[in-house]
Amino acid sequence: MTDRVLTVTELTKHFDGLPAVDGTSFEVREHEVVSIIGPNGSGKTTTLNLLSGLLRPQHGTVVFDGTDITGRLPDALAAIGLTRTFQNGRVFGTMSIDDNVTVGLTPKLRAARPLARLRRIPVLRWIPLLAETVVALVRPPSVRREERETAQTVTGQLERFGDRLLPRRSQEAATLSYANRRRTEIARALAPSPRLLLLDEPTAGMNPAETDEVMHQLLALKRDGQTMLLVEHKLDLVMTVSDRVIVMDHGVIIAEGTPAEVQADPAVIEAYLGSRRGRAVADIAPSGATDEGDHE
Ligand code: ADP
Ligand code: MG
Repeated sequence: MTDRVLTVTELTKHFDGLPAVDGTSFEVREHEVVSIIGPNGSGKTTTLNLLSGLLRPQHGTVVFDGTDITGRLPDALAAIGLTRTFQNGRVFGTMSIDDNVTVGLTPKLRAARPLARLRRIPVLRWIPLLAETVVALVRPPSVRREERETAQTVTGQLERFGDRLLPRRSQEAATLSYANRRRTEIARALAPSPRLLLLDEPTAGMNPAETDEVMHQLLALKRDGQTMLLVEHKLDLVMTVSDRVIVMDHGVIIAEGTPAEVQADPAVIEAYLGSRRGRAVADIAPSGATDEGDHE
């Protein structure tokens, strides 16, 4: 196994002939935190959508842990250790925090999902569904053991967030504050212990105190060795948590390097500041910018 968790080569996605991601190549190594920054519309979310299987590239390849995963669907990717969160935050409003986080573990369930691989074969899809119904009714010891393990994993994930989520774990997600819904989503993505976690603007819409809290959680994950690819607007956070920063503009990578290298790069200053160039990039962190305009 190489220390390269992700290798992206010439990734390309056009919408109606307009390039959103235009031949980008980069890699993420084990235990690294890599951030993608860039102005609105520069192709950051599209990149994550291509990596996580929501979109299929017109050209290029994505190799994850030595396996070509280009075009594979999100649930298959989650099962092999690639999970994500969304720019707008996505939780199931009528489900409890517990159940939302448990959903993140579904692709990894073995006892409760016998013959899951047959699900991908349309004419045989009924066989795993029947088998799942039978084990759900009979609840053999293997299923009960798996349920206990799942509950423990969920509790462990909720504990990451101190008393933010644990006391509310049986509440419907729709009743939570915006920040707590986003924390729930992060817990769900982390539940299956992904080899690579993709985060699309995890602090979008959060106030400075909430942003700071998420930053410390990301730093704690980094200390645990969690490999992460982060899209984020708030440059203070990016510069604090990242080992490397990739800068996109108009679908292409215009700079890449350590936070210090990128901050000093004239092309980056130009892309962020336009005519107001000359100030340090960190000075213009678009605080509070939420950029909630997903296009999926
Ligand atoms: P970012 O996340 O960097 O703000 P996006 O990746 O969301 O940027 O968008 C990149 C470009 O692709 C933008 O011009 C956007 O309008 C366009 N785009 C993204 N998704 C779609 C879509 N589903 N259909 C058409 N255009 C899209
Ligand atoms: Mg985006």
